[in-house]
This record gives sequence, C-alpha cells and structure tokens, in this order.
Amino acid sequence: MPTALAVLNAGSSSLKFSLYVERNGALDLEVRGQVEGLYTAPRFVAKSADGTLLGEEAWPEGTQLGHAGALDHLFAHLRAEHADITIAGVGHRVVHGGLDYTQPVRVDAGVLTTLEKYIPLAPLHQPHNLSPIKLIAERTPQLPQVACFDTSFHRSNPEVAQMFGLPYAMYQEGVRRYGFHGLSYEYIASVLPQVDARAAAGRTVVLHLGNGASMCALQGGRSVASSMGFTAVDGLMMGTRSGSLDPGVVLYLMDQRGMDVRAIEKLLYNGSGLLGVSGIASDMRTLLASDAPRAKLALDLYCYRIRRELGAMAAVLGGVDALVFTAGIGENAAPIRARVCADAAWLGVELDAATNEAHGPRISTADSRVSAWVVPTNEELMIARHTRRVLAQ
Ligand code: ADP
Repeated sequence: MPTALAVLNAGSSSLKFSLYVERNGALDLEVRGQVEGLYTAPRFVAKSADGTLLGEEAWPEGTQLGHAGALDHLFAHLRAEHADITIAGVGHRVVHGGLDYTQPVRVDAGVLTTLEKYIPLAPLHQPHNLSPIKLIAERTPQLPQVACFDTSFHRSNPEVAQMFGLPYAMYQEGVRRYGFHGLSYEYIASVLPQVDARAAAGRTVVLHLGNGASMCALQGGRSVASSMGFTAVDGLMMGTRSGSLDPGVVLYLMDQRGMDVRAIEKLLYNGSGLLGVSGIASDMRTLLASDAPRAKLALDLYCYRIRRELGAMAAVLGGVDALVFTAGIGENAAPIRARVCADAAWLGVELDAATNEAHGPRISTADSRVSAWVVPTNEELMIARHTRRVLAQ
C-alpha cells in the first residue's frame, strides 16, 4: 500500500490541499485541490497532477461549512477515492514561526501553544493556519503533523536586516523584520543548482509576484534580506496590499480621519495595492487587458516599486548575478517581466524578448551580464519534503 503525505494550506476562506505519494524515493503529486468559500458558498474541487477532474462538490449559498466541515469532506473524499493510499503525515503551511522556529517542527501540544502565541503577529493568517492542525490533533491524534513556516527561511538574515530603528527592547520582544514567502524562496533556492550554477552560488534576487508579492536577496542560496518585514503588508505593492508606507500615514489616518485599527487594517490589506490605485481590479490579467488610465497608473506604480526595491536588494548584495521571477505574475505576466528587466538594465540585465514571451526558463540574452530566469515555485512540494524529513527523524 503506497504511503502519502498530505499538505494543507488553510486561509480565512479556503482550504487548499495536496497529496504526495512516495514512489522510489520521490514525492509524486497524486491529487490537489481546495475547498473555497468556506463561509459563503463552499465549493470543493480535486484534480490529478495533469489537471483531470477527480472530484467536485458545491454547497448552497449561505452554507457555513467552515474549516471543520471542509476537513471532514476532504478526508472522506480521500478515503473513498484514494482508498489504497495510507496518509503517513500532514504538513501545514503556517505563516509565522516567530523567533522559536528556524526550521519546520513536528507539532505536539506544547508547539501548538507556542504557535498560538504568534496569533497577534499575524492575526489575519495564523488562526486559520492553526485551525486544521487543532482539528486533526483532536480527531486523529495518532496522525503526525508538521508545521512549516513562511518566516523560517529568513532567520538567516543578519541582525541589521531584521531590525527597525525602534528602541532595542522592542526588537528583543519580537518587533522585527521577519520576512515571508519563505517556503517559496526555499523551494527556488533548492532547484537553482539545476537551473544555473552561477545563480545558485552567487547573488540572486528572487521576485515572488503573486497576489502577495515580495523579493528576497539570496547569497549562495541563503536569504540575506527580504522586502517583507514585521508583517506581509510591507515591501512591494501587491494585489490589494499597500506595501511599504510611511508610518506617518497611519498616524494621520488615526488622528485626522478617526480610523480605528480594524478600518486601517482593511484599507492596507484589502483596499490598497493594484485594486486601490486602479479602482478596477487586483488581478494582473484584468489590468494588463485594460486601457483605462488608472489601470496603467497602477501598473506603473507596481513596476516602479519593484525597481526601487530591486535597487535596495542589489545594494545589500553588493551587485547581482541573477534575477528569478516566480508565482502567478512572475511566471505568467511577460509584459511585467519585460518592464522589470528594462528597469534593471543599469544592473546589466538584457532581456531576450522571444524567450520572455515563451516564459523562459532563461529570459536574458546569452551576453547579458546578469541572467534572468522564470522558475515556477512549488511551496506544497517544499512542505511535503520537509514533512517527510521531519517525520523520518
Ligand atoms: P497567490 O499569491 O494567491 O498564490 P498567485 O501566485 O496565483 O497568487 O498569483 C495571482 C496573480 O497572478 C494574479 O494577479 C493573476 O492575475 C496573475 N496571473 C496569473 N496568470 C496570469 C497570466 N497569464 N498573465 C498575467 N497575470 C497572471
């Protein structure tokens, strides 16, 4: 009977899952999918690695399936449709590992208590990430679980890269730059040796451009700086998040507009970024297809923020050997990559327009001093690998 590792990524309104079967030492994707609209109009989809539909279900509008209902449905589906497979463990994506976890960890009651202490650091994500861990621990305590963190990969950043210019006691208490998207960057770093030896060994800036967006400076595959800081709202402008902001703006909104924490949180996380600037959409495809002036302005600002942040990353690294584009926009939006590369001409990047249109893998010319690449990320596989390693210990 083949054994498999389940990977769960629980958000506020969705539960994403993948199942990796161990075959001859490799981890093969068997099925992946999600339950979305957990509290509105739930919908379940499961697909095979090649995209074949394996299962589908929709609940009436207003059904409060929640994380518990979604998890029940998922495990019932796996038991019924993949009865020959034994699940040996579950790996979870958890946004915050705080100062304690520089590596993935097997979850027990003590670990869960520590992870709950980080809820105030990531109130929009951490509680949802922990919800399926708690449910599985209650229902099937014999099933091993591993928490894999978005912050861990950046714990190698030098102290100055982790600090704000705030009183030192606050740094010691944990008010510091953690950085996120770490599982994506770690995956990219793990495959870079097969992509390009110079990028793997040298100074590489990875641009993770999805709905959330950030950049990471890699030196020999280790993170030395990230554009995200204390929270995942810092750094680049994103789909609906503002990115870096003068803290004085927040003070102004409180003082002069009477906005409270929840209203400002909503503005910065859900009403800003590409959506807020364009007034049209947060989705890159929609904006690229639009000829509205504010869609163009939103794209201009998006690329300008990347240009500035890339300059900062180049300064931190003392030069750049390679750029890597990944995630939804990085992997698919050729016009955005073309603009970012044109803006980085001063660094020595020369775009190959034809391979860029074909989405790489190499999108710089053979003569380009700095190479540029498209490398699809795979956070789920990274979690499955970690889970296997931790459970083997
Ligand atoms: P998440 O951070 O939610 O995982 P993704 O990595 O899936 O997000 O990225 C979503 C973004 O990728 C959206 O802005 C979407 O418009 C963009 N995207 C996906 N496919 C394309 C495409 N073919 N061209 C341009 N943008 C795309």
